[in-house]
Amino acid sequence: MSNLAERIAENVAEVRGRIAEAARCSGRSADDVTLVCVTKYVGDDETRALLAAGCDDFGESRPQQLFAKAEAFADEPVRWHLIGHLQRNKVRRTLPLVCLIHSADSLRLIEAIDREAAGFAKPIPILLEVNVSGDAAKHGFMPDKMDAVIASLGAYRHVAVRGLMTMAGRSTGIEGARRDFSELRRLRDAVRPNGPSNITLDELSMGMSGDYEAAIEAGATIVRVGSALFQGLA
Ligand SMILES: *Cc1c(COP(=O)(O)O)cnc(C)c1O
Repeated sequence: MSNLAERIAENVAEVRGRIAEAARCSGRSADDVTLVCVTKYVGDDETRALLAAGCDDFGESRPQQLFAKAEAFADEPVRWHLIGHLQRNKVRRTLPLVCLIHSADSLRLIEAIDREAAGFAKPIPILLEVNVSGDAAKHGFMPDKMDAVIASLGAYRHVAVRGLMTMAGRSTGIEGARRDFSELRRLRDAVRPNGPSNITLDELSMGMSGDYEAAIEAGATIVRVGSALFQGLA
């Protein structure tokens, strides 16, 4: 094994171990938490090393980069996740490639996905991105709009709304992150009973390299980890 592959395998093992421990601490099993490996910083060699280390859920934040990687790994059993902002003019090219869109951040986008998804055999799974920290620079629905958003989703029969996604605020440290994650969970629990039938909201996508254990303790079912997987590479 090359140094690069070896190092990445070690990092994956470390992250998986910490995920399992955080899950155990919150009375859940490691199998309840999906690790999405974020490949946006790296090229094909590192991505291949992740595959060799047994990972198959990969995330990209830019559609253009997701298209390129999905093409490069077309013969591999990769499940691609789009985790960043999706422009409506990229919806058509994105839908056939992804297993989950984490970043549905406006009703106009959801409408565009729904229209395109009408041609697919199954509804397209999406998560609603929520701007719980209120950072002006972040995408996502504002928490106080979620009731109205959820109520209007029944009109979109070609999307399957599986849950919520958020990023913790940048400036408030790990305690701020814990608050943001708890808030997303609270919001999910509050809006879930009002959802139409195409909405399940079982998934909470939250937690990155610096805070994924806190996210799991707050109920994350999906964590999106990038830089921690590539530590120590020259
Ligand atoms: C880059 C990115 C991540 C991963 O960030 P790391 O801190 O490198 O783990 C997770 N989620 C989103 C939306 C991202 O853009």
